[in-house]
Amino acid sequence: MSAINRLLSLARRPDGRLQASDFRFLEQRVPDLAAGEVLVRNTWLSIDPSIRIRLQARTPSGYMPPFEIGEPLVGLALGVVQESRHEDFAPGQTVSHMYGYRDYAVVRPGGSTIGGYGALAKVTENGFPLQWQLGPLGSSGLTAYAGLLAVANLQPSDTVWISAAAGAVGSIAAQLAKLRGAIVSGSAGSPAKVDYLRTTLGLDGAFDYHDGPVGDLLAAAAPEGIDLYFDSVGSDHLIAAIDQMRPGGRIAMCGALAEYDNHPATPMPSNLFQLVSKEITIKGFRAGSYSHLMQAMQDEVGTYLRDDSMEYSELVLHSLDKAPTALVAMVRGDNIGKTLCALEN
Ligand code: NAP
Repeated sequence: MSAINRLLSLARRPDGRLQASDFRFLEQRVPDLAAGEVLVRNTWLSIDPSIRIRLQARTPSGYMPPFEIGEPLVGLALGVVQESRHEDFAPGQTVSHMYGYRDYAVVRPGGSTIGGYGALAKVTENGFPLQWQLGPLGSSGLTAYAGLLAVANLQPSDTVWISAAAGAVGSIAAQLAKLRGAIVSGSAGSPAKVDYLRTTLGLDGAFDYHDGPVGDLLAAAAPEGIDLYFDSVGSDHLIAAIDQMRPGGRIAMCGALAEYDNHPATPMPSNLFQLVSKEITIKGFRAGSYSHLMQAMQDEVGTYLRDDSMEYSELVLHSLDKAPTALVAMVRGDNIGKTLCALEN
């Protein structure tokens, strides 16, 4: 195929706040396929905080490696098979894979994955908009489901706090916890998001973490304490959760948003002895390790979405040109729900 492919790459390491000018596009000819390869025209890109982590010169031990300057980014994506030299894939099929941030992807089935998912797979229609398979019925849904149920052992009697609760993962986690009977508070970064948490998602409590010390805000939202904290932020949020945790509480460590875009480093917990005194369990997790729960998640979340007991929002930017803007917007918190780029090829 002789088409020109545009691939988004890292132009320079971000210094503090991410900017669209930290990225640049490369242009390459779409290569001829080797035996066993599949050419995919990308249609949807998942815009994820994990990219921000990988823009740093070093990533945390055990995490995916940093992107090098000039290296094309990768990320979860949906697309349509254009050409195939693999017997399991045929032109016209819709697929998911991990080579987003480009117009066309040459994919070898069964190759390496992003943290356990992202291998080339056929996507079947399920009656929902296709891109939901990158959001509530895909990695965002699985992260929420695995973190709450498999990692933190959610109980209907729990009082729960979800941070970044208006985001892709947080909004699913908050509603899932509520639908399973828990009392749920959520936090987010603007009055509009707090209103969304209270009014649209129907949470029992909600606060803007800019409105004062997070510990005070959490204590006001959940004065009797919490049993479960779903942590996407780290830093002062994690410190507050430990202080407000009831004996035997559980913390699912999903992410550390406060650390990704900040310079200098954010405060770390100095109250960890409470893990001993209150017998708190804290467990980090990667959703890719819970892929076996994907079907169960899709069944449950799909039922809630179908009967309108779960709400889903998304911020969609159009065209690959907007991918840098989409990344900046998501990190800055412009999104409610999932952030996506729709490619108009
Ligand atoms: P998201 O929440 O939709 O978008 C990121 C959000 O981060 C923004 O909307 C912004 O919301 C918030 N934010 C930015 N800086 C912040 C800060 N300093 N303090 C608090 N909030 C801040 O993104 P997502 O895809 O759903 O991811 C949420 C979390 O899950 C991230 O930590 C991500 O790394 C993690 N994650 C983990 C896994 C896993 O396998 N463990 C998989 C997927 C995602 P506000 O306006 O509310 O600040």
